[in-house]
Amino acid sequence: MKRMALVTGANRGIGRAIAAGLGNQGYGVIVGSRDLAEGRRVAAEIGARAVELDLNRPKTLERAVAEAGDIDVLVNNAGVYFNEPMLPHPGHFGESLSVMVEGPYHLIRLAVPAMTRKGFGRIVNVSSGWGSFSEGLAGAAAYNVAKAALNALTLVLSRELPQTVKINAMCPGWVRTRMGGQGATRSPEEGAETALWLATLPHDGPTGGFFRDRQAIDW
Ligand code: NAP
Repeated sequence: MKRMALVTGANRGIGRAIAAGLGNQGYGVIVGSRDLAEGRRVAAEIGARAVELDLNRPKTLERAVAEAGDIDVLVNNAGVYFNEPMLPHPGHFGESLSVMVEGPYHLIRLAVPAMTRKGFGRIVNVSSGWGSFSEGLAGAAAYNVAKAALNALTLVLSRELPQTVKINAMCPGWVRTRMGGQGATRSPEEGAETALWLATLPHDGPTGGFFRDRQAIDW
């Protein structure tokens, strides 16, 4: 039977490239998008279907997972980036955590029962080197904190999930998207490559790791 994959923030950028890549590999793909019309437009282009999924609106997460049906692969890709100090902007701090930590936590919580029942699951958290202590938490403040927390969520949950459900974090590199800007070094397809590898891991693949270019990197 076709494996089913839900990708958040799949209406553009790296998420769209991950969704298209999974479709090309024969997965049934569900495009998660906070703008459903936009999600549907992209889904039509890549042969997928779309669900409304806004990580700032918890109700849409429950509905999206229910509409998606049992999913085998969850890619927590959506992200926001505010290039400013944290203390004057508590709203942006909260949104960063909601989109890149709390939302992924709730989606995982909602998706794992079916993965456990089916004895198969792959969860990919699209993180960043900017969430890495070993790389100095460089970048923008709230983004650093949220990605570091997403990394922690990945490692801690890998101990809680059954062995058949693999969870990993990855850094896509610097990618030409609205977030990365046009001066970035990688195409969205190149940025998606390691996420696609982690989403399609075989039974003996890694879990609880952090990867860039398919190589393990330090947290
Ligand atoms: P992007 O082009 O800005 O796309 C971000 C995606 O996240 C969009 O689909 C956006 O939806 C979605 N999103 C934002 N807030 C959301 C919310 N509340 N609910 C649902 N979706 C939401 O960025 P990107 O470069 O493709 O980034 C994808 C991931 O890669 C992010 O997690 C980012 O942190 C990570 N990353 C990117 C780079 C890079 O160089 N680009 C480097 C390292 C890590 P809308 O279209 O509705 O805004």
